[in-house]
Amino acid sequence: MVRSHNEDSIASDPANGLVVLADGMGGYNAGEVASGMATTVITTEIAQLLAKTQPYQVDPQNKKPIAEKLIRDQMRDKETTGTGIEASLTGHLVFATLHTNSAPESIIRLLDMGMDPFNFSDALLGILAQRLARRMCSCKAPYNPDGAEIKSFLQEYCDELQQTATFKKDPKSAMESVYREWVKNYGNEKGQLVMYKPVGCDKCGGGGFKGRCGLHELLIATDPLKKLIAEKARVAEMLAVALDSGMRTLKQDGMEKCLSGVTHIKEVRSVCIK
Ligand SMILES: [Zn+2]
Repeated sequence: MVRSHNEDSIASDPANGLVVLADGMGGYNAGEVASGMATTVITTEIAQLLAKTQPYQVDPQNKKPIAEKLIRDQMRDKETTGTGIEASLTGHLVFATLHTNSAPESIIRLLDMGMDPFNFSDALLGILAQRLARRMCSCKAPYNPDGAEIKSFLQEYCDELQQTATFKKDPKSAMESVYREWVKNYGNEKGQLVMYKPVGCDKCGGGGFKGRCGLHELLIATDPLKKLIAEKARVAEMLAVALDSGMRTLKQDGMEKCLSGVTHIKEVRSVCIK
């Protein structure tokens, strides 16, 4: 049931619209992300989003965007947000940062600033939330988790999905479907999931972690979601619709990054405190 993000829908009119970068704790600069300079945190998800929405060219000499259609804006108040939305409705692609904890919460924050729900839902292409977590050093030790560990890991991941239509209909088979997806995406050649323990070596100062990685939550403004925004629906409702259409929460993205050995579940839990 957990399909990958539907980047196609963000690109229906890629020449203009609003992309919000929600940076609760991780923090990034809208300009850096838009110009592809924030390489330390850019992942495939952002790259795909940018590839789909990019109406401008990046100057290869100084790597700065030739930003005729790009406006960078900090959305702090009604005035800056209103200007951003106006620009995105009049032929500009706007990347804006907002200090908030999750993608769906960003919608409420912007509406609370006094945005017109119709204009905002019309303008919005998507919202990308990010947190940074410590990356596991290459000294990490792979192991095959036992059934109980997999079950509790799966349960923790699926807790985020309880309000979705798919889980409400048939939680057991929805959960099995998530598990099958994991085996397909992260399983070894024997169809087993692998997890990793931090070890510690000279390179990481004995701690088992070196560098950081980004955890991401990419909310695509699909038509059903635009409708909910226009109706000023509750966060929980928008979250469920976004998840049903393939969004993964910051925590879920982090947990999948545990299954691929990028980071550790303790790290994910500590940076995804709500
Ligand atoms: Zn190490």
